[in-house]
Amino acid sequence: MDNLITARIEEIKPTIPPRVRLIAVSKTMSVDSIRMAYDGGIRDFAENRLQEALEKQEQLKDLGDITWHFIGHLQSNKAKKAVESFPWIHSIDSLKIARRINRLAQEAIALKTITELPQVCLQVKILPDESKYGWDVQQLWQDVEAIKQLDSLRLRGLMAILPLGLSKDETLGAFKNVKSLADELQPHFGSDFDQLSMGMSGDYPLAIEAGATMIRLGTILFGKRSTVALG
Ligand SMILES: *Cc1c(COP(=O)(O)O)cnc(C)c1O
Repeated sequence: MDNLITARIEEIKPTIPPRVRLIAVSKTMSVDSIRMAYDGGIRDFAENRLQEALEKQEQLKDLGDITWHFIGHLQSNKAKKAVESFPWIHSIDSLKIARRINRLAQEAIALKTITELPQVCLQVKILPDESKYGWDVQQLWQDVEAIKQLDSLRLRGLMAILPLGLSKDETLGAFKNVKSLADELQPHFGSDFDQLSMGMSGDYPLAIEAGATMIRLGTILFGKRSTVALG
């Protein structure tokens, strides 16, 4: 069997400090590829499309110790399923969806369809980016008090995706700004707000340098995606 994926994992793992969680972004990848990554020791997988993710989860039920992370834009009508199937949601990108997830989590806990509150990150646009979802910094500060009221969310930190085309210095600077923002927000959100989900295949070493605690790697582990995968 093709063990290229395990070989890539072996190569990358030693470069990642123990404090950083390696999340394999398996969107568009087959369940066979996910199994290979699992055999290589990966236990955290991320998906960005709900329907695709649910189908894979169903086929991978035997791998009981996988932690699933949702990293795509959530439409309101898919939020319930996301809450039920993803212990981590990195892509809470507006107050509206935050409130909805909060209410759905409260209901799911009451109905015992989930046993633990969802752990969530707030997706922030540290630089203006028309093509992406997320809070801009000013709006996020305006919404802090409202977000604090959402007591069925376990607020864990920030998630960031940088715009395309930045230089290395700009990339590092932007990641450091995300880190500073998270540090400034922590007194408002509490000590549990300690995660920084940032860094992808092209920029993860800089994200780690800036303080990332979770990196989301797709291409560098699985190879190029043949299908279009919108973030
Ligand atoms: C696709 C995706 C990734 C992984 O991107 P690669 O460049 O393939 O590592 C990370 N985060 C999000 C939100 C994504 O949509």
